Amino acid sequence: MATKTPSQMERSINTIIDVFHRHSRKEGNDDTLSKKEFKDMVRTDLATFLKKEKRNEAVINDILEDLDTNLDNQLSFEECMMLMAKLIFACHEALHKNNPRGHDHSHGKGCGK
Ligand SMILES: [Zn+2]
Repeated sequence: MATKTPSQMERSINTIIDVFHRHSRKEGNDDTLSKKEFKDMVRTDLATFLKKEKRNEAVINDILEDLDTNLDNQLSFEECMMLMAKLIFACHEALHKNNPRGHDHSHGKGCGK
């Protein structure tokens, strides 16, 4: 039976969309991330997962260029979600590396670097 309150997974999806919008609304097109908005998002909302990357301007630029598949210097929601997919895969890998014995993900070091 479906419940009225969103599940934890649904809330996590909503949070990803909310955070994207919080940054995408700051300047230019309300639904895309400029280079500056992308950097702000990496520094404030991916600070642990991208700890090394956030300190290195050149690396952030490389990530942005990789994601910007239509080369318009903006990241659409779809383009930005390619990074989320990579982070989710990397995070799952790291969880198992940090806690190789099982699927009790909560007792490992987590997946931040
Ligand atoms: Zn797993």
